[in-house]
Amino acid sequence: MRFLILSDIHANWEALEAVSADAATRGFDLVLCLGDVVGYGPNPNEVAEWVTNHADVVVRGNHDRACTYVGNHDSFHPIAQHSSTWTREQLLPCHSDWLAQLPRGPLQVDNFDLVHGAPDDEDRYLFDSEEAAASIRYAAEQVTFFGHTHVQGGFVARRLHGTTEVSRFHKVPAQLALEWDSLYLLNPGSVGQPRDGDPRAAYCIYEAHKSVAHFYRVDYDIRTAQEKIFEAGLPEELAYRLATGR
Ligand code: ZN
Repeated sequence: MRFLILSDIHANWEALEAVSADAATRGFDLVLCLGDVVGYGPNPNEVAEWVTNHADVVVRGNHDRACTYVGNHDSFHPIAQHSSTWTREQLLPCHSDWLAQLPRGPLQVDNFDLVHGAPDDEDRYLFDSEEAAASIRYAAEQVTFFGHTHVQGGFVARRLHGTTEVSRFHKVPAQLALEWDSLYLLNPGSVGQPRDGDPRAAYCIYEAHKSVAHFYRVDYDIRTAQEKIFEAGLPEELAYRLATGR
């Protein structure tokens, strides 16, 4: 079984279209989404509709809550608050209702788990190996896919001389063959707002039967996505950061 794993699409239609076209050439059986379908980007309805129609399993992200009335956004940065208020006004009731009922992770699929932030807390960010080490003990499966940081790659935990060492992939492997005796927290990266210095849209295909994860990056029409952000009156920083991937 080949799983297409998408995260943090953030209402970026151009990025989603490019990822969907690229993934179609590689082939997959099921589509899994790690949350933050909306927020920041200018096409919340189009993206929510695509995910509704194409994704087999979706966990909710913090922006999915904030952009519907199930979550408040008081803790958000002013730019994120502005975008979630705008998104609430734009969302059709059917999409808003769908987002509001998305389940919290972890959700088990096959022999791995899906979360938005971390195994122990859907809102926790896993940026460094210390944070990953504190969280991985809560992982119920050998492999947990997570998002939230918008950084492609993740962490591996190996048993060495009676202790567990957690390390981050500093260079994301194009193809990662999992070792049976290690634990993994894997991030497909963000489709719609990468923050790892590479502005290309990110995604992952996981071949569960072979225990191999493939990490991909795809060019997309950033200019059009930026123009839509300007036209919508969303904060301009949201457009500029698409070009830098920061
Ligand atoms: Zn996000």
